[in-house]
Amino acid sequence: MRRLTGTHVYSYVKCPRLAALDLHVPRSERRAMHPWEEFAARRGREFEATYVAGLAAVAPSYPERDFEAGAAATLELLQRGVPLVHQAVLLDGDRLGLPDLLRKVPGDSRLGAHHYEVVDVKTSGRPRSDQILQVVFYADLLAAVQGRWPERGGIVLKDGREQTFAIADYTAAQREVVDELRRLRDQPDRARAFLQAGCASCHHDQRCLPELQQRQDLSLVHGMSHGALAILEQRGCRTVTDLATFHAEGARARGNLDPTLLRRLRRAAQARLLGRPIVEARPRAALGDAALVHLLADPFADRVLAFGVLHPAREDGAFAWAAAAAAADEWRVFRELVLALPPRVPLLHFGDALPRWYAEHAFAREADPALEARFVDVGKRLRTAAIYPAPVFGLADLVRHGLDRDPLRAGHAGAAAMWTAEPDGHERLGAKLRADLLDLAALKAVILDAAPSEPLAAESDAGAQA
Ligand code: SF4
Repeated sequence: MRRLTGTHVYSYVKCPRLAALDLHVPRSERRAMHPWEEFAARRGREFEATYVAGLAAVAPSYPERDFEAGAAATLELLQRGVPLVHQAVLLDGDRLGLPDLLRKVPGDSRLGAHHYEVVDVKTSGRPRSDQILQVVFYADLLAAVQGRWPERGGIVLKDGREQTFAIADYTAAQREVVDELRRLRDQPDRARAFLQAGCASCHHDQRCLPELQQRQDLSLVHGMSHGALAILEQRGCRTVTDLATFHAEGARARGNLDPTLLRRLRRAAQARLLGRPIVEARPRAALGDAALVHLLADPFADRVLAFGVLHPAREDGAFAWAAAAAAADEWRVFRELVLALPPRVPLLHFGDALPRWYAEHAFAREADPALEARFVDVGKRLRTAAIYPAPVFGLADLVRHGLDRDPLRAGHAGAAAMWTAEPDGHERLGAKLRADLLDLAALKAVILDAAPSEPLAAESDAGAQA
């Protein structure tokens, strides 16, 4: 029987189908990691190694993958009262845990006048629910060894701070996840694929996405939620084609789905079948003469690597960019680029990365409040201005489904930090900023500045029906 591990708990919180596949599909059938995913994983391992190296923690010694021997060696360290244990082996029935650190704390237990609590080392900026449940999973295994639950668990964040939390607040949720993992181990099809933001970075994407397309799954429709999908399927509407012509008279027939939502989902199914976006009729706020501003960041280091601008915000606009060699250069680089633009032009940006960066840096400097007032998030406008032929989670999806262009032709934004160590890294940063800015300009032209699409035949037939 396949053992349940902390990684399965972590995966389940991201996507139950991911946990089911991890339990059943051999590792050899997973997609190979992209270079930038390898780079990020290596940085995580190096961060943990550096953090632990300064702690004088002791690791159990055992033959590779002999977890019974590892659990016995761990127990011996815990009974001896070693202050910190690195990569302990916790084994109980069908569950196996390899926590980063066990830390000795006062309080009686089966081990003596002390017991242990779990600390995991992560590279995120704040604790996430999947990380917390993983720590609680280890705490549950630890409780079986030492005869008592630790009161607290800890997560070390990328800045070296440790955040602790009460284990008791999460034990019920953790038990539910473990129970569901056992059911998935017996019946993997209990969890089905659902297209979501995490699919693009999932090692099972090449398995799930063709399956979803083959069965014309409703999750391929822009704006679909788990709840709406369940209601539609109960009503016999199971595929994108079904939904494109699904008309239900009355609240009961449409499963109490909001009529406006149902109309929007039906149009999204039609957009998918047409293979192009449907531009919505809506009030338009003119942007006039505007510039596009974009950045490439290294989230692990909390750094902006380079800024770029395009003015006017058209594909034939003038492109300029500059890299920030160090954190101390970021503010100067940004200001020089923006000050070279005509005064008062709106600064169009995608998402909250730029305003968040600006707010963090402006606080410590003599920032001009009028500049922040010029920021306009075109990401929000693009999402609401059209119905796309597939869900759109980020800029890459908007480019793919709004323009039918390859958003990765100049590389993946997640690889930007990796490029900085490569001989042609500087040129790659510039090329990526330019490609993203041209894509944003093209999206502005074909979605935000375009006339609304003609009504679709099926839509006019629907009339006032839901
Ligand atoms: S590809 Fe998507 S649906 Fe499939 S397992 Fe991964 S996250 Fe889940």
